[in-house]
Amino acid sequence: MHKQTITRCLDNISTSKNSVYPENTEEIKEVITYCNTNGCSFYPVSSGNNWGYGSSFPSDENTPIVMNLSKMPEVINFDAAEGLLTFGPGLTQGKLYDFLKANSYEFMVPVTGAGPEANIMGNALERGFGITPIHDHVASVRSLKAILPDGSTYESPFSQLGLSQLDKHHKWGVGPNFDYIFFQSNFGVVYEMTIKLERTPEKIVMFTMAISNEALNECLLKLKEIKETYKGFISGINLMNTRRMLAMKSNYLLDEQGYCAEDKIQELKTAHKLEDWTVIGAIYGPKGIRATIKKELQKALKGIGTKKRFISSNNIILNKSWLGKLFVAADDLKKIKEGFSILKGKPSRYPLNLIYSLSDMPDENKKYNPLKDGIGILWYAPVLPYKVSIIKEYMEGIYKIFETFNIEPMVTLTIQNENIIASTIPILFKKTEKEAVENAHNLYRRLLEFSLELGIYPYRLPTIFHKDYVDRVNWKDSLAYKLKNKLDPNNIVAPNRYSE
Ligand SMILES: Cc1cc2nc3c(=O)[nH]c(=O)nc-3n(C[C@H](O)[C@H](O)[C@H](O)COP(=O)(O)OP(=O)(O)OC[C@H]3O[C@@H](n4cnc5c(N)ncnc54)[C@H](O)[C@@H]3O)c2cc1C
Repeated sequence: MHKQTITRCLDNISTSKNSVYPENTEEIKEVITYCNTNGCSFYPVSSGNNWGYGSSFPSDENTPIVMNLSKMPEVINFDAAEGLLTFGPGLTQGKLYDFLKANSYEFMVPVTGAGPEANIMGNALERGFGITPIHDHVASVRSLKAILPDGSTYESPFSQLGLSQLDKHHKWGVGPNFDYIFFQSNFGVVYEMTIKLERTPEKIVMFTMAISNEALNECLLKLKEIKETYKGFISGINLMNTRRMLAMKSNYLLDEQGYCAEDKIQELKTAHKLEDWTVIGAIYGPKGIRATIKKELQKALKGIGTKKRFISSNNIILNKSWLGKLFVAADDLKKIKEGFSILKGKPSRYPLNLIYSLSDMPDENKKYNPLKDGIGILWYAPVLPYKVSIIKEYMEGIYKIFETFNIEPMVTLTIQNENIIASTIPILFKKTEKEAVENAHNLYRRLLEFSLELGIYPYRLPTIFHKDYVDRVNWKDSLAYKLKNKLDPNNIVAPNRYSE
């Protein structure tokens, strides 16, 4: 155990904590025994890059020990015939990519926007999502192993029967299955997990289009049908508002440092040839399926939106850089290529550029890490029923609220499936300025109220707002509370993480 300064990206809190880096399950159990004996608690993280949600800073500020599992095993086994990956908390997106590449395994990393240093297990345990075909990362989990707060071991049902091979193939096993109690909770330390990886497609087709606010409803309804019919062959489809697109194309917020007035947005929209919304998605699958989906999308979206483009990943103009430069501006070409490699499962730091929207830090100084670069960020990430009336009300409310708090609403709507749209908005602020921190937190509080008024709620919360959820669910009557009391009577594992 050694002292280490742990910082939070949600505000400017930085505290010295005892850090432990166990390398095996025996060392995890030693910490558990120590905590049970000495009446103290610990906060387990895999990489601890939970940016916008609390990083590795404990949910309860008083938790004295951070258990960083990044030295635990990375890849434990890969069944390349089945695409089944068994791994430990040491595995990051970047390390998985390197492993697959070194072994010429044509499988995709379940990438997110958090870049190569983000963790595969940590992201799944927070129920994160990306954009490759299995974008819901919990959905790909087949089995797991965890150490419980009394030092005993939990294994998924078939493993308990000694059928660990079958366990990795079959998600549920037989009898009660408690795998999911370890997600967004504090019931133990997960030390092994098996997930299904998707094969890297030989080719993908990226589609993009521009949509006005007036055409948004119709576009959403058409995309809902397509997503329902061709699930599995279409990525999560992202719709980004002008402000979100401008953040990728320019540093327009440098002058504003807050909510950008609508007339200025209209000017910038014209200058950057943008629309109210930009739609981006990808078609996966064999040639015939790709062609069918492309045709169906063209038919469904006829007369809706402009600038429709279907770009194949083997497009000669993109792949021959000298030829590409004749047709596409060098910067756009770079972005399109980056987009393809992310959609094909290659982790990238590129999406992390978003966090520098308020800062003039030159590229060469960026560490692509909000903690190291002192950036304040909270993610507001509500899930919305796929109903156009709710989405319309949501957008109207969001603009008003963000304007009141003078923070820019850079909105992404992700079509996850035909029932759910997940929205993500980064709340960026200067964490060294006390008022800016307070303002960002007050904005988040207001957004939680607004969410409940509208019948929506974040799928995941920054640690400082876990209490909001607990206070609203009659916690002491919940099964989670009863289980936690039984399993962890001394409350040693991650107190307050989505709990009281
Ligand atoms: C610009 C930007 C883009 C982002 N894009 C995305 C995105 O596309 N999708 C997305 O989901 N997130 C995204 N994030 C948020 C976040 O950075 C990622 O989700 C990241 O993967 C979480 O950090 P981690 O992987 O290091 O997990 P960790 O921080 O290691 O884990 C997350 C939490 O899970 C628990 N935990 C972790 N490991 C264990 C364990 N072994 N046992 C028990 N509990 C454990 C801990 O409570 C921990 O705090 C983004 C952030 C930024 C700044």
